[in-house]
Amino acid sequence: MAKIIDGKKIAAELELKLKKEVENFIAFSDTKPSLAILSTGLEPSSDIYIKNITKKAQKNGFFVNIINIGKNHTQQDILNLLQSLNSNSDIHGIMIQMPLGANVDIAKISNKISPLKDIDGINPVNIGCLAQNIPALYPCTAQSIIEILKHEKIPLEGKNAVVIGRSSIVGKPVALMLLNENSTVTVCHSRTPLSELKAACLNADILIAAAGSPGLIKGDYIKKNAVVIDAGINLSNNGIIQGDVSFEEAFPKTSAITPVPGGTGPVTVMMLLRNLLTSAQNIYFSKNNEGSER
Ligand code: NAD
Repeated sequence: MAKIIDGKKIAAELELKLKKEVENFIAFSDTKPSLAILSTGLEPSSDIYIKNITKKAQKNGFFVNIINIGKNHTQQDILNLLQSLNSNSDIHGIMIQMPLGANVDIAKISNKISPLKDIDGINPVNIGCLAQNIPALYPCTAQSIIEILKHEKIPLEGKNAVVIGRSSIVGKPVALMLLNENSTVTVCHSRTPLSELKAACLNADILIAAAGSPGLIKGDYIKKNAVVIDAGINLSNNGIIQGDVSFEEAFPKTSAITPVPGGTGPVTVMMLLRNLLTSAQNIYFSKNNEGSER
């Protein structure tokens, strides 16, 4: 019988642990880990995401500063703001809510965030560390996928893992993480012919869907007893959230599968807050070690 993986339950366990770690860090350092969120208000669903993160963060001892940069911002406005947040010692993590608007070059913005405060793992320095399997701040959704697989004790070494999607924040980083876990990894994307995508899926012991294409993965794409992690979050016109996998068709074929909603989403928020605590700890300890060396 296939198992429906409960992302909310996993997130609740992670939250308990994180809360204690935050309390210990604050007691030791007298430093409250603090997050700056740059919000444009361009996308209502992003506002909901920001609200959820803020609520969870505040509940667990973090400080959140939402900076509304408005809809008419220029690229230079954002670069200037990042410059001041990078050098502000009271801020430990910076998150930029996408989208930023057509005239903003995301690569320039990603490059500008201090790698030490880059809790979304979008700076090329952090992506380079991931490619070399060096600990750093890694993208949260990709982390949540690996966290779920490990929580469920799914063996990764030597397994065929197929990732659908090659974005910088989900597909590529999760493919690198699976390589770091010694899986054999295949990445499919929008230019992969459908017949080849289906053939790859049918060979997958572990199938990760991160395409943003509702119902792309049908029941007859699934190898018997595969583990399926659906990171897709697709909002239909009637307000229903759907994954990239046709859940009803896929479920009986799998040994375990994440639902949408209630799968990777809640765990991703925990990964973001864990990155924020890590960045606060790294900044605190590097500052204090510097002092003791003088
Ligand atoms: P993106 O649009 O940046 O990238 C989508 C990727 O999927 C691209 O590489 C594209 O080549 C590929 N793709 C698109 N259609 C395809 C198709 N028909 N066949 C094969 N490949 C296809 O999106 P993203 O930011 O990587 O997000 C992917 C999905 O994950 C979205 O649904 C998004 O909402 C969701 N997401 C979830 C979380 C979470 O916490 N669970 C976080 C971020 C994004």
